[in-house]
Amino acid sequence: MSAVGIVVIGLILISTINVQAAGKLQAKEVTYNSVVLLWDESTAITFTQYEVYQSESKIGGWSLVKIIDSKSTTTYNVSYIKSETEYIFKIRYVDALGSEESNTVTVTTLKDPLKGSIEQAVWYGYAICIGGIAIIVIVVVVIVWLSVKKRKAKVQTPSQVCPTCGGAIRFVQEHQRWYCDKCQKYL
Ligand SMILES: [Zn+2]
Repeated sequence: MSAVGIVVIGLILISTINVQAAGKLQAKEVTYNSVVLLWDESTAITFTQYEVYQSESKIGGWSLVKIIDSKSTTTYNVSYIKSETEYIFKIRYVDALGSEESNTVTVTTLKDPLKGSIEQAVWYGYAICIGGIAIIVIVVVVIVWLSVKKRKAKVQTPSQVCPTCGGAIRFVQEHQRWYCDKCQKYL
């Protein structure tokens, strides 16, 4: 057999054995800012690397987030991603003869617990402020109303005059009645 023939047969053998069955990708342990990716180990004998790709579904477009050159490392913790956001991940299996992609997994990160408590604190703050303002407004209205009422009462008292002589009259506390000194009688 010629050298060329051996090389050709060798290449055919390698490409046959080097079957890169697309590994299955899974997502686990989703938090508000991270996700753990797990995928099947490459079966390629000429394995080069795994490439972890990420896409924010709203924005679109793939970005390479990690290159792993160890065949047995089939997990990656994607961290510091946004909370309450939909992400899509895929793994590209690269070997000397080419590359193949895994399935995609879609993950929606959880709500940031700290962000939630800050929002709640802000709302409590607002509620306290509005409550405080309401109490102040009520107190001011009551004070104004009371002073107006008092002033009216004060104004009414000296206008009391004797219907007989038109002179000033005075209120006798003891008898709870009005008395005219000029006419010397109770009204
Ligand atoms: Zn009188």
